[in-house]
Amino acid sequence: MTGLDQDPRWVKFHDANRVCSCCGESFDGVFDIGFSCPQSWPNTSDPRPNSEFQELRKTEPNILTDDFCIHDGHYFARAVLPIPIIGSQTRFSYGVWGSLASENFETYLNSFNTDTQSQIGPFFSWLGNQVPQMNDASVEGSLHACDNRARPEFFVTDTAHPLYDMQENGITFDALLDIYDDAGCGVRQHLE
Ligand SMILES: [Zn+2]
Repeated sequence: MTGLDQDPRWVKFHDANRVCSCCGESFDGVFDIGFSCPQSWPNTSDPRPNSEFQELRKTEPNILTDDFCIHDGHYFARAVLPIPIIGSQTRFSYGVWGSLASENFETYLNSFNTDTQSQIGPFFSWLGNQVPQMNDASVEGSLHACDNRARPEFFVTDTAHPLYDMQENGITFDALLDIYDDAGCGVRQHLE
């Protein structure tokens, strides 16, 4: 395996003291691309704090907090979809939402403030966001809770889906740069 620390662009990408000559921007390495709500959530209002969830639930049918969402009778948890980067120990993640069956959502919710949440699940889940370049309406996966209050990890289980291969085998640094370009936060041109 070729170590990415031999790639001058990778080195520049991780040098927070370097200032790009074209725009003055600095980079501090791999960053995630996240979604603040499930794709089906209808408005762009800011999520409420998690601490308000139980109180909101008494009156609101549709709720969005930082890590929980109920919409039209569907339940979602905020998660990360990790993708290894070939030649490095770093992972890139999409910050996505995953659906949960109602009983699994309650289990997840009730264990949320523990440090041992990995003892529950994993749970069947549908990917709740459309990742750039992926046109599928529904992607089947599995939600794995994590310890020490880290966000749960979504793993695509549909072996025919391109994301499955990306999670299984990793992506190149160039593929990551393509992802950033497609998401409108291009990095490539600032590593020349
Ligand atoms: Zn620049």
